[in-house]
Amino acid sequence: MNIVQPPPSVLSPELLARFAAIVGAKYAVTDPHEAAPYLTEERGLFQGHSPLVLRPGSTAEVAAICKLATETKTALVPQGGNTGLVGGQTPHNGEVVVSTRRLDKIRAIDTQSNTMTVEAGVILANAQQRATDADRLFPLSLGAEGSCTIGGNLSTNAGGIAALAYGVARDLVLGLEVVLADGRIMHGLSSLKKDNTGYDLRDLFIGAEGTLGFITAATLKMFPKPHSVETAFAGIVSPADALTLLDISRNIAAGSLTSFELIPQIAIDFVVRHGPSIRAPLAGQHPWYVLMEISSPRDDARDTIEAILTRGMEDGIVNDAVIAANLDQRAAFWKLREVISPAQKPEGGSIKHDVSVPVAAVPEFLREADAAVLKLIPGARPFAFGHLGDGNIHYNVSQPIGADTAAYLARWHDMNDAVHAVVAKLGGSISAEHGIGVLKRDELPHVKDPVALDIMRSIKNLLDPHNIMNPGKVL
Ligand code: FAD
Repeated sequence: MNIVQPPPSVLSPELLARFAAIVGAKYAVTDPHEAAPYLTEERGLFQGHSPLVLRPGSTAEVAAICKLATETKTALVPQGGNTGLVGGQTPHNGEVVVSTRRLDKIRAIDTQSNTMTVEAGVILANAQQRATDADRLFPLSLGAEGSCTIGGNLSTNAGGIAALAYGVARDLVLGLEVVLADGRIMHGLSSLKKDNTGYDLRDLFIGAEGTLGFITAATLKMFPKPHSVETAFAGIVSPADALTLLDISRNIAAGSLTSFELIPQIAIDFVVRHGPSIRAPLAGQHPWYVLMEISSPRDDARDTIEAILTRGMEDGIVNDAVIAANLDQRAAFWKLREVISPAQKPEGGSIKHDVSVPVAAVPEFLREADAAVLKLIPGARPFAFGHLGDGNIHYNVSQPIGADTAAYLARWHDMNDAVHAVVAKLGGSISAEHGIGVLKRDELPHVKDPVALDIMRSIKNLLDPHNIMNPGKVL
């Protein structure tokens, strides 16, 4: 089963006017200056082009856009907050961009069912805030939460720093409203936990990166707000010690261990050098650090985190540690974590890998990936950090000091091949969180089970026979 990629989109003035009439002239952007923010992303890695950006204000308008697009075989690119890291939200081929930014209503909050029904364009931080206002928690949390949208989070099946306890975006959804390529609306905004009435179609659209349909709204799960939260930085010697500390933490904290992030000394160095007035969390230097958080429904988070760190020190794993003394220090710890990736920029080119391996294999992965990378480019600076508790490592590699950035970045695919070979050997995934988009599309056939890939293509052809939904992405 093959997917036929359409030729570059060409939009006649008449067709452009028909699309514009659906949303109204004010929300049909053709001016290049106004359209520019929708065509590139913050790292500038992908630059798209498009004659038209549509900003629908309702599900009915999205449906009308999709219906016309299928009728006229016009390719569309759904876009939320434009924070995706694999080029999925960029119109590479002159497609019409359909932005969800005006679909920004919280439709309902039900504190008895612990659910919240929101439109796709609601910014993640706003959804979190609305849950907090209702004395609840919406736990999805990631560095881009001030800009990314619920529709984008679901379409990429985002992970983030609380996935350890609450799961990834997929785990936080009960129901979806989806506009199909032909304009039909799947009304699936159920808040039922139990509903075994056939195939689970909802899950098809989560992580589909806009290639199967347009998510317009979702019913999300909320959780009780934790009573006590404590955050600590611990200095350790190796990723293997971090794994032992993870084991200790799980045994002591069980479900109240909500984050467990691995950070190398080089990341602290870069952040202190380039971050906005951020200080190192501990006085001395350590090869590695763990940033952990305990969120408890009772008043015992402090006791729990102290018990973990004490046990870690007694076992000779934790060399030094600090528990955030107040909310400001806690925010500073997380700020440090958030700016790790941007702090790489002033150090020159960075070749990135968003991979996962079985949690127990993380130390072996890091050892072998470092060896492979340094063999390929001597002097390259591995910069591995991320969600150790999920086996998800952002294995970024900064260029050697003084190297030519363009020449270094030209080795992107060679390095990907070397690192992904280690991932494959350890039974991991080449895309843990960020998706496939265009960045990893051509690699997918080499790593995905061929039968699974064939089923994916069949589903795509069934739901979107003219390939108008985000063509050229994923498949
Ligand atoms: P966009 O970037 O606009 O789109 C992403 C994809 O979803 C595209 O393929 C697009 O076509 C599709 N899409 C968007 N909206 C819809 C819709 N309504 N219906 C159908 N398809 C749609 N990701 C993580 O998982 N974990 C992290 O910890 C994390 N940290 C990040 C930190 C930073 C600083 C940045 C810049 C990014 C980070 N990301 C992370 C990646 C990114 O934020 C997520 O992928 C996010 O979920 C994308 O949401 P968005 O609204 O920006 O989507």
